[in-house]
Amino acid sequence: MTLTEKLLARASGKTHVQPGENAWVNVDVLMTHDVCGPGTIGVFKREFGNDAKVWDRSKVVIIPDHYIFTADSMSNRNVDILRDFVREQGLPYFYDVIDDPNGHWQFDASKGQLKQQYGKNFAGVCHTTLPWKGHLRPGEVLVGTDSHTCMAGAFNQFATGIGNTDAGFVLGTGKILLKVPETMRFFLEGEMQPGVMAKDIILHVIGDIGFDGATYRAMQWEGPGVHAMNMDDRMTIANMAIEAGGKNAIFPYDEKTGEYVRERVAENGTKADFEPVEADGDQLFVFDRTYDLSKLEPTVACHPDPGQRKLARELTTVKLDRAYIGSCTGGKTSDFLAFARVVKGRSVKIHTFGVPATTKVVAELKAAQMDGRSVWSILEDAGVQMTENASCAACLGGPQDTFGRMNEKALKCISATNRNFPGRMGHKESQVFLASPYTVAASALTGHITDPREVLA
Ligand code: SF4
Repeated sequence: MTLTEKLLARASGKTHVQPGENAWVNVDVLMTHDVCGPGTIGVFKREFGNDAKVWDRSKVVIIPDHYIFTADSMSNRNVDILRDFVREQGLPYFYDVIDDPNGHWQFDASKGQLKQQYGKNFAGVCHTTLPWKGHLRPGEVLVGTDSHTCMAGAFNQFATGIGNTDAGFVLGTGKILLKVPETMRFFLEGEMQPGVMAKDIILHVIGDIGFDGATYRAMQWEGPGVHAMNMDDRMTIANMAIEAGGKNAIFPYDEKTGEYVRERVAENGTKADFEPVEADGDQLFVFDRTYDLSKLEPTVACHPDPGQRKLARELTTVKLDRAYIGSCTGGKTSDFLAFARVVKGRSVKIHTFGVPATTKVVAELKAAQMDGRSVWSILEDAGVQMTENASCAACLGGPQDTFGRMNEKALKCISATNRNFPGRMGHKESQVFLASPYTVAASALTGHITDPREVLA
């Protein structure tokens, strides 16, 4: 069996499963956020009753992150609905925007978008918060009401996005009916060249198979290229499985995974034991391809979908209006460090927005030094508008007043995010080009799409 098949077999109490088979799977963690949480809670109450209790309080994680720093009252109200539910159910894992468990969240637009407007429990984007706060463990099943839940596959988990109806059912029962996906294997070998990042790998692969090339399939990553990568890079790749239609992404377990997880569960006092899955010798793949990482170049996914692959050096005539670094995919500390390496001592030519994925990233960027200066100030001095309000922000557009949102038509943005369908970051006539933090940074400096190797050299 493949990694995904082994994991689903174990989670459904069977010795063997095969692709296409339906299995009732026991869920280890259910995650929801401010956009889908209220709907999920509504389904749960409708189906299980107003006084019903969730199946296991320690397995529910609620992370407000999407439409947070906006004056839109309905969005603010969604966070209050989550808080009321957490209080009613006595849930231990809720990363609230405010500290008062009986309070109401209201964004204060008069304070502006850049300065911190959250309390001590707030964390930021759900997929980046889950590993940080010790909620991901190898061998487990994670479901979340968000399509990029697949990011947790970096940790040798089965992790997938589900809808509110399924999530409401999981809240009541702890189970989900899943069709076992076929597995595609992506074998990585060779070493990435300077200027190339993990984001280029996944953009290259999606360009190869198409934005529907992995529809309802598991994307299994293997090879020496995988083991050479740190966990942030694995997360970047797993995050975008859904951009090829994938059901999940899955990485093998190794000591880097174990070390990362043990550290985070100890820090947060979350469940510490886990049992990784290992690949069998007799795996059957529906697709099996080897990629030589040394051949990859800085890559861009052009408007209007993540499969529109071109090399950055082929796109120098594309003039840009803005650049954006942030999101679960591209807003990690390592992403900002790469970005800062390019813009240090220079000035961006176009509006450039920086949104850290989590509050920990904000703290790390303020503490990290490059040439005796904080990375945060290096970015600000280069002209990047950095916000302390870690969240999804304009990655998915959001309400009109969202930081970095593309409100005018025909704007072109190069972005370290993960999705670029029409209207994704705001106006439906705007265009988004997906790229690595290096490529976004180099393009911000020139005002047109730029191969970062030109600047890094
Ligand atoms: S940062 Fe973007 S992709 Fe990630 S969870 Fe938020 S909206 Fe989704």
